[in-house]
Amino acid sequence: MPDTGRTCGDCALCCTVLRVDELNKPARIACAELRDDGPGCSIYARRPRICRDYKCAWLLGSFGDEDRPDQLGAVLDLEFRGDRLWLEIHEATPGAFDRSDRLREIAQEYRASALVRVSDADRATDPEHPFRILLPDGYEQQVRGTRVDVYRDGRLVDSTEIGWVRRTAARIWRAWKLRRAPEPPST
Ligand code: SF4
Ligand code: SF4
Repeated sequence: MPDTGRTCGDCALCCTVLRVDELNKPARIACAELRDDGPGCSIYARRPRICRDYKCAWLLGSFGDEDRPDQLGAVLDLEFRGDRLWLEIHEATPGAFDRSDRLREIAQEYRASALVRVSDADRATDPEHPFRILLPDGYEQQVRGTRVDVYRDGRLVDSTEIGWVRRTAARIWRAWKLRRAPEPPST
C-alpha cells in the first residue's frame, strides 16, 4: 500500500457497512468483533483474511484528508473492472448520499470519468435492493431487481427489464463480490 500518511484512526465504518462472509456478518450490521471500549477489532491478530486485505479508497489516498468514511457517512471504493473505473458509494444509512453535500460533490467530480454506483446495502445479500448508477450528462439509472428506470436531470426518460443474460451476469458478478470485506481500524 502506498504511504498516504492516512490511518483508520477512530473510523471503523467498513466493519459495519460491508459484509464479512467468513463471519456471517451481513452488510450494515455492526460486526460482533468490534471492541466495546472504542474503535478497533477485538480479534485483530486473527481477523479474517478479507479484513486484512480490505482498504477503502480514502485510506488508499483518494479524496481529501477530511473525507474519512466515518465523517462522510459512506465507505467508498474505486476500482477498475475491465477498462471502466467504478466509484462505489456504500451508504452507512439509507439516504446518506442525498443528505451529504460532500458525497454528492465527490460523485459529481467522478461521474464524467467513472461509473458511480450508490447503494445502501450489499446486493450480494439483497439482490432486490435498489441501487443507483450515476452517469455523465445528468443521466441516472435506478435498478430494483430486474427493473431499470432511467432518469435525466431527475425526470424519468426510460424504463426497461433486465434480460436473463444480464441477470446471469449479475449473479456471477455478485459471487465474485463475495470475496470483498472490510479492513479493521489500525489503532
Ligand atoms: S478501511 Fe475501513 S476503517 Fe479504515 S478508513 Fe476505510 S472505512 Fe474506515
Ligand atoms: S476487522 Fe473484520 S473481524 Fe474485525 S471488527 Fe472489522 S469486520 Fe469484524
